[in-house]
Amino acid sequence: MTGRSRVVAAGLIAVAIAVAVPMATIIVAVAGTRDPNQATGNSVAIADIPADFLSLYQEAGLAWDIDWAVLAGIGKVECDHGRSQLEGCNPPRTVNVAGARGPMQFLGSTWRAGAGQFDPDVAGPAVAAGAEARGFATDGNGNGLADPWEPADAIHAAARYLRTHGAPEDYAGAIWAYNHSDTYRSEVLRWAGTYRSAANPAPASVAGADVPLATVRGITVHTRIAAPLEAMLAAAEADGLVLSGSGYRSHAQQIELRRAHCGTSDYAIYRMPASQCSPPTARPGASLHEQGLAIDFTNCSSHPTACWQWLNAHAADYGLYNTVSEEPWHWSI
Ligand SMILES: [Zn+2]
Repeated sequence: MTGRSRVVAAGLIAVAIAVAVPMATIIVAVAGTRDPNQATGNSVAIADIPADFLSLYQEAGLAWDIDWAVLAGIGKVECDHGRSQLEGCNPPRTVNVAGARGPMQFLGSTWRAGAGQFDPDVAGPAVAAGAEARGFATDGNGNGLADPWEPADAIHAAARYLRTHGAPEDYAGAIWAYNHSDTYRSEVLRWAGTYRSAANPAPASVAGADVPLATVRGITVHTRIAAPLEAMLAAAEADGLVLSGSGYRSHAQQIELRRAHCGTSDYAIYRMPASQCSPPTARPGASLHEQGLAIDFTNCSSHPTACWQWLNAHAADYGLYNTVSEEPWHWSI
């Protein structure tokens, strides 16, 4: 098995981390995430995952043919989806006593063969697919840098690691390779099961669940824009630019974004004007994302980016426009 000795070290760390996260804290945190419109335990559970991490787990899952819920389970147990304040998770760029760092807790030497387990900075070029003996450095967001601190990179690398170690045929073995601990593995699988069932509630329980959806190169959108989106992504790729991002967002995910961007009171979540949130975020029910008709592109945060420049020149040909000037990443019908 590739990098076995490095993996053993990763296993030891994660045991320590898993043990260090008190279960009572997790239960309180989840139970405390209340949503007046979504009273079921399932929707409470999915709201535990920040919207950006949820998108990344799902995108990486599709990209590597790995169950996104298992990725989310690992992300939960390792660093509580980036929120844990333990060393190695936060503050950014710290390394824990065993050398793990970033939201998915990679050792320096697992990320990049030849680097030291504790090397503080192992960001750099991605390791090519098929060359995992040289490490799992992965550029999940296509920004040219494979960095275990970038959630997209770390989550894609974790998916790649699981795949290299037997998934999707053998998740039990792959998770054990990630971290040699039966306790760790059962915790990951327990969270994965919770998240998976939370993401697939009875259709009637989620507003907008009747939106017909299609996934185009990892971006889920309304079926009516799927074909032009595919054509646009292909045209961009032909010009040397691989575009990625997230489109459809459930009502529950929109509420979670409002909670993160606007505040936690009912007023902040449901009624505050979008412009008073940081960044501006549409009221639940008022976002084109909830209809699958808007896409937030990654690496598109400003006008000088290659992403925005290309879209500005070509997206209109495919019926997509940057309708909110303060949000260069947001393109919609
Ligand atoms: Zn948007």
